[in-house]
Formats: sequence, structure tokens, C-alpha cells
Amino acid sequence: MLGRATDSSEKRSQVAVETQLKELKLLINGEQVPAESGETFEIRNPATGETIGTAARAGTSDVDRAVEAARAAFDSGVWQRTPISKRTRILMKVANTMRSRADELARLETENTGKAIVNTRAEVMQAVEDFEFYAGATGKVMGQTVPLSGQFLHYTVREPVGVCAQIIPWNYPIMMTAWKLAPALAAGNTVVLKPASATPVTAMVVGEILQEAGVPPGVVNVVTGPGEEVGTHLVTHPGVDKVAFTGETETGRKLMAAASGTLKRLMLELGGKSPNVVFEDADIEAALMGSLFGIYYSAGQSCEARSRLFVHRNVYDEFVGQFVSRSAAFKVGDPMDPSTQIGSLISPQHREKVHGYVEAGKAEGAEVATGGKAPDDPSLQHGAYYEPTVLVNVNNRMRVAQEEIFGPVVTVIPFSEEKEVVKMANDVQYGLAATMWTCDVGRAHRVAGQIRSGVVTVNTPFTAFPGLSFGGYKQSGFGRELSMETLDQYTELKSVLVYTGAKPVRPLGV
Ligand code: NDP
Repeated sequence: MLGRATDSSEKRSQVAVETQLKELKLLINGEQVPAESGETFEIRNPATGETIGTAARAGTSDVDRAVEAARAAFDSGVWQRTPISKRTRILMKVANTMRSRADELARLETENTGKAIVNTRAEVMQAVEDFEFYAGATGKVMGQTVPLSGQFLHYTVREPVGVCAQIIPWNYPIMMTAWKLAPALAAGNTVVLKPASATPVTAMVVGEILQEAGVPPGVVNVVTGPGEEVGTHLVTHPGVDKVAFTGETETGRKLMAAASGTLKRLMLELGGKSPNVVFEDADIEAALMGSLFGIYYSAGQSCEARSRLFVHRNVYDEFVGQFVSRSAAFKVGDPMDPSTQIGSLISPQHREKVHGYVEAGKAEGAEVATGGKAPDDPSLQHGAYYEPTVLVNVNNRMRVAQEEIFGPVVTVIPFSEEKEVVKMANDVQYGLAATMWTCDVGRAHRVAGQIRSGVVTVNTPFTAFPGLSFGGYKQSGFGRELSMETLDQYTELKSVLVYTGAKPVRPLGV
């Protein structure tokens, strides 16, 4: 999803996690409170299988309390009417605190997700930059004046939508927290955030940082608990005005149906099966490195993982030979080790799902060129590790080429013609991201114009930067995050008409 220079010379000791059991509570109306039922659930480190703490298991009554707090905070105007310069300073303070605690946040994120520390460090910094971007955007939520004939002044204003429910997945917990909270707050909304049950840790810490930075009580509430119950209650709650969701396409469909009862504003950032096209005129070395990054970043657990690699026949043997041998050399291991490139997957169950796809691919005739199993290293047996896996002899109709695997598994398909590869790239239900490698500037723009996806990158695998819109076409969802356009989706547009004649208008002439 992103890229950031990392300093591999950093010592392992600098990232050692002090094992400390966490007891996460709910954040409601500025206070940390247990669930009304008193129930909790365990939080695990997927790289070791160990329990690292517990989180409060919210039920519907806790969701009601959180929504009431957010509603009261919104209706009081305590945040919306805070002077813009003060809101900017508060959001900047959040960013500054996160920056100063970046190392700790990355360690917490790695401990809770199993992701390589080189990844989580970059993700924490992107979360910081999101808050910085939207701190600067707070005073730029603007309307327009519209010229009308006659003696009228017509202008539009953008007003916050109200109470926003934000439901996020486990693959980028801190980044998704920032992607969701920062624009909602910049636009003056109040929020109930629900992190994924597997990864509640950093969302809770960011919630605390927001309170310390001066966000008034009730403006940001964080509830942890099962999506089916907590998420569904949020999505159907009459006190919620808008739902922003990132996660699986199937969950997005359910959520859209559930939200229809109260006609909530919706923003869905869903799955992907993104193509990565290597043309024969590509800079092969750059394409190799970028293609490895495009699939293996975050162990392939990315909605925009470039999981379908299309390689021109004229460079196929050279490229794929190198791609396979470099994949096999990727370092899979302890995610706290700064030299690790691929950490653990989120859970043993998820690893089973990923492996099930590899088996399904084999059954359909695909061949495993490398990987296709958990690593043999005995020191990794307690974690949910999976080897980088390259599937060849694939055709675009196979399930492995059509469905989101969400692991370090890439399919490789050769092509001969530009037209042919554009057709295959688009021949999937998703449309989130696409990457191409070419030195032909005309082709780059021509193909970018034909790919049906929300993001197209040329000669770079990086897809997400604060300021640039991110979101999907087709069944990858709708709505755009990370950019100024996002503010449109966290606001309602109001038109104001003023008659400026000497006497008010008398339409009936009486
Ligand atoms: P989900 O889409 O099920 O979960 C994402 C978030 O939605 C979580 O906070 C979850 O809560 C919540 N949720 C689950 N069900 C509902 C519901 N009915 N109503 C409201 N909220 C709900 O993804 P999973 O985490 O379960 O992962 C399943 C698969 O989805 C993965 O194996 C992966 O393939 C894919 N995935 C795709 C992502 C993407 O960005 N494209 C991101 C994450 C996963 P809880 O955690 O409590 O269940």
C-alpha cells in the first residue's frame, strides 16, 4: 500500500517488546469503561500464538452508550464550533504525539498483527501524515457562490454529516484508524470507531492520544466487539448518520443492505484483485523489485495487493525466473526483526484459507513455482507464517486469478498484445488498483485510461499517499479516502438562497 525507506541497520534490541498484558476498555464519552456485561475477549500475537491481553467485549447496550455520547457531542456543537485554528492545532498535536511515540506504536502494531516491523513503522508514519494532512484541511471545507440571474445571492456550505460509524479491518489497524478518523474530525463530525476484533490495540491507543490532545469527550468513541453484533447494531442504529467501512466485499454487501433501512450515507472500501503488468519495454530490474513489493508487502494482506502478475511473452522467461528465485529468497520470520520482510499472517485460520486457495489452484491446473506451504523453520512453528508463493500455468478464469486470496500468493499469466492484457486486467469483479511497468510514455497514459480501477500506478508500486484519492471501481466499493474529496463525503452540501432586492419576494403578488 505504501513504501517508506527503512533502516535495516537498526538493532533488534531497539524493537524488543516488553511483554505486558494489556487490558483494553471501551472509550465512551472520554472515559475508559468496561463493557456493561463485564465480558472481555483475548487478543493474540499471531506470530507466537501467545495471548497479549484482553479487550472489552461490547454489546448492543454499549454501542447505544457510544452513539448517545457521539450524538450529544455532535448536537452540542462542541467540536463543530471549536474555532478552526484550534481544531487544526488539536489534530496537529495528535500527529506530533504519534510521531514522538512512533517506535512504540509500531511495536504494538507488530505485536498485535504479526506484520514485519519494517511495514508497521512505515504505516505508523503514514498515519501521522494523514493527521497532518487533515489538520491542514480543517479550514478548507468550502462551499461556492453560484451566479444566478436576478437579485439573488446563492451560495453553498458544507456541513458535517453528523455521527459517523467507522468499521475497520485487521490488515492496517493504525493506518485505517487514521484514514477514517482524521477526515471525519477535520470536517466537524463525531465518531464511533469499531476496530477489527483481532487488532484493537493501536486504535485504542490513538483514541487515548486524541483525548489527551484536547478532542472533547464524546467526539471520538471506540468500541471493541464482534462485527456481527456490534457492527450490525452500529449500521442499523437510528442515531448514526453515516457508515464508513473497510473490509471484505461480502461484508460490504451485507452492511449496505443493513444500512438501507435508515438510508445512511455509505462509504465502502472493499476487496481487490489488482493487476500488475510488465510490458516488454519495462526497466526489468525496477519491475522485479516493484512487483515483489506489490504482492509481498504486508504478507499480501492488502486490499490493493498486486496479486495478478501479467508478463509480456518476450521477457517472460527472464522475468519470471528472477521473480521466482527472489521470492524464494524473501526473508520470512520474526516480525520484530528489522531484517524480516514477511511476518506472520493474521491467524492460523487465515493461513488455512490462503493455503486452501493454493490447493484449489493446483486442482485447477496451476503449478507452484515456489512456496505453497508454511516454512519448515522450527522456530516459526507457533506463528501463522506462509511462504511467498508464485503460481504459474494459470489462466484468468481460475479461482486463484479471480478471488481475493489476501496472502503472499501471486498468479503469473503471460500476454502478447496490449489490448489482450488490458482485457484480462479488467476481467475481474474488482477495480481497486493497478500497476504497469513500461518506458513508453504514450502506452503508460493510454493503458492508464483503459484500466477500470480507482488507482493506476506507472513504474511504482506505491498506491497511497495523503492527498491522493484512494478507493475502488466496481465491487471494490465506492467513496474516496485520503484526499480533499474525502471531505465531500464527510459533509452534506447545503444550498442557501438569499433574495437581495429591496423588499422580500412576494411570489403570489399579494
Ligand atoms: P470483514 O470484512 O468481515 O471485517 C472487517 C470489519 O468489519 C471488522 O471490524 C469486523 O469485525 C467487521 N464486521 C464483520 N462483520 C460485520 C457485519 N456483519 N456488520 C458490520 N461489521 C462487520 O473481514 P475479516 O476481518 O473477517 O476478514 C475476512 C476476509 O476479508 C479476509 O480473510 C480477507 O480475505 C478479507 N479482507 C479484506 C480486506 C480489504 O481491505 N479488502 C480487509 C480485511 C479482510 P470483527 O473483526 O469483529 O469480525
